[in-house]
Amino acid sequence: MASFANRPLGSAPTGNSPDPLDIPWIDIHQHTQSLTWNDREKFDLSGARAAVMIAAGYYWAPYRPVSADDVRFLWDDALRRAACFDHRHFYDQYVAVGVHTWAGVDGAAELLAALPEYCEDERVVAIGETGIESTHHTAAWGLDDQRDVVREQMHIARETGLPILVHTPGSSKGGLPAQYSHSYEEANDSFTEPLLDPENAKREAVEIDLELAAEAGLPDEQVVIDHASPAVVPLVMETTDCYLSFSISAPWLRGFDPADVASAIEEYGADRIVLDTDLIGAMEHDVFAMKRTIMDLCRLGVDREVIRTVVYENPARLLSLDTE
Ligand SMILES: [Zn+2]
Repeated sequence: MASFANRPLGSAPTGNSPDPLDIPWIDIHQHTQSLTWNDREKFDLSGARAAVMIAAGYYWAPYRPVSADDVRFLWDDALRRAACFDHRHFYDQYVAVGVHTWAGVDGAAELLAALPEYCEDERVVAIGETGIESTHHTAAWGLDDQRDVVREQMHIARETGLPILVHTPGSSKGGLPAQYSHSYEEANDSFTEPLLDPENAKREAVEIDLELAAEAGLPDEQVVIDHASPAVVPLVMETTDCYLSFSISAPWLRGFDPADVASAIEEYGADRIVLDTDLIGAMEHDVFAMKRTIMDLCRLGVDREVIRTVVYENPARLLSLDTE
């Protein structure tokens, strides 16, 4: 293999030297409270300017039927931790507050009643994550009840003007390919039976979510269809004005790779495409996912300004963050 060491003194290396890779990024979706100090330091080391912590991360709390009090505690806990994190790191920590549908919640109505008040906190920049799910942790949540909870959060998004992060199904029970079964152990064992066709769950869930957004009168510009895969790219990009976000820290779970992101950008432009990490301590992940994906997209020939749009400008606009 060629190396600088073997090259005669005075000879120039062939090829262009890479330009510095100084593209900043904002992560609209991560489970910061389940990560470590070292992980958060790596965000600083790799160009983070801001990150949104999903407050309702109950799936790393003890498993039992989830009560409204549990979720309320997690919202308060996320806000308390966020204040600590951004006083000790060099990116700004924000919070998304919502009722996640990945486990049945007893007493969701009282949470929905409290949600608008949480949206007034200056750290709360989004509602979510929430969205129709097919399989659940601990206790199943029927589709009709999920519809009511998701629709009401979309209604609150309309009233408050905040964007909503729409979770979409990943792998169904037992659906992870064998080579990844160690990467998220619980996905193969702990989940309830699927409510939607496992082959088409993501697409079917997105179709319902879009119906609910229409029922709530929520403008597409406030909707982020999250955990994108090629299965929903045309649906979202051709029939809506919603944002589409690829969760890049666990592509094995979501069914895409950086080339799929590059293709979506090439086909539909960068204006409504976002990258987020969805980093969570409960599964195998890459804390440098954002920086590595930026490098991958560069190597795939995506223009740097375009990459900056999807990792920085779009998130900032969506979350109404100042980029000065
Ligand atoms: Zn998430």
